[in-house]
Amino acid sequence: MKALILAAGTGSRLMPLTKNRPKCLLKIAGKEMLAHQLDILDKEGIKNIVIVVGHKAAQVKKFISSYKAVKNLKIRIIENKKYVSTGSAYSMWLAGKEIKKGFLHINADLLFHSKLLNKLLKCGYKNAIIIDKNVKLRSDMVKVITKKNRVVEMSRERKSKKYAGEAVGPVKFSADGAKKILSMTEKVIKKGDRKKAVYFLMHDFAEKHELYAIDSDKLPWFEIDTMDELKKTEEEIKKAIIFDFDGVVINSEPARYRTYRQLFMKEFSVNLPEKMESKLFGRKQKENMTYFIKKYKLRGNIGNLIKKRKRLLDKEFSKKRNLKPVDGLLPFLKRLKENKFKTAIASSSSKGYIKKILSKMRISNFFDVVISGDMIKKSKPNPEMFIKAAKMIKAKKENCLVIEDSTAGIIAAKRAKMSVIAVTSSFNKRQLKKADKVVNNLSEIETSDLIRIFN
Ligand SMILES: [Mg+2]
Repeated sequence: MKALILAAGTGSRLMPLTKNRPKCLLKIAGKEMLAHQLDILDKEGIKNIVIVVGHKAAQVKKFISSYKAVKNLKIRIIENKKYVSTGSAYSMWLAGKEIKKGFLHINADLLFHSKLLNKLLKCGYKNAIIIDKNVKLRSDMVKVITKKNRVVEMSRERKSKKYAGEAVGPVKFSADGAKKILSMTEKVIKKGDRKKAVYFLMHDFAEKHELYAIDSDKLPWFEIDTMDELKKTEEEIKKAIIFDFDGVVINSEPARYRTYRQLFMKEFSVNLPEKMESKLFGRKQKENMTYFIKKYKLRGNIGNLIKKRKRLLDKEFSKKRNLKPVDGLLPFLKRLKENKFKTAIASSSSKGYIKKILSKMRISNFFDVVISGDMIKKSKPNPEMFIKAAKMIKAKKENCLVIEDSTAGIIAAKRAKMSVIAVTSSFNKRQLKKADKVVNNLSEIETSDLIRIFN
């Protein structure tokens, strides 16, 4: 099935943002609205797309030519040069030849969960529209009245009628449905009515032909007409990003482990293995000290050992060569800051150590809060730390993305019901496979990983 995206309008209610930019190229969470839409279509297997452009058409064309190459989509662009004096029905009429075998109608300002599209495509009806039964209906919304699921009326008017919900879209038309709505469009245009909006045509269509309503079932969707809607959408779709520290912000594990080896050699003449055991990652140092002491049957005061190790750590991290940011960290942090993502650090290391290193690396201002080992009772793989971080940055746990380098951290994130991306600082891809995604460099993290709503 082909998709028809109508993107010719001026987006007047989003001025001044739309003064020099078409509405469909406004960014949400750092990614163009149109790119979000194309990704959703691509995900549901729709590769054939017709876009009607108008306002700032050249920018959309340029954007599409680079996007097509990356995504392997077949995109046809049609230009509505009279976009100022015509309505969306006129744009649809221009695309008539391209969509006559059936199509999916999508407004350029609508973002929706890909499952909604899937529902529409898989429903048994030939012609159908997504509606939302769970919104509080207002006078400015296009509302539908249904009889046994069939839409019998679509209107904006506030009458004392029993509306089933708001008409949201997308709308699916079979070949036969397309033929009918295109012939109705043709008649309207030929009569000289060029200002008509598509939804009036849908209303006329539903009066005469079968158009069924599919409920959105509380799956998320956003219509972006105003600045308020743009802002609200951004806030709702962005995940909060929770960073582990060692191995995710700084490549510190080798130097940190070295301090254990130095300490145990000096204090007990014990030669710890050259390679750090995997279970030691992500744990508090007190737990690791206890582990070594038990393993080598030593007698030592943990408090004293921690003090002595602190001196060794200070020495290691006073060396500039040991302040190595994880690959891709700085551009990634800048990207998050620019797009106003919430960020936290959640690490079993001590607060003093984390703060000192953040300040030495000059990146303290990139993080909203720091949760350190001394603020929690249980180390990873217990999820306590991540749950606390989410609370402090006021994010729901299912809206958080954790970035980790250890297997214990991945388990903790999963137990906290958060999504998790692992970076291969300390373990290889195979060892980290329980994460939702594994990267070698933080720059491999895509915008679609940072948002929560469309997949
Ligand atoms: Mg780590």
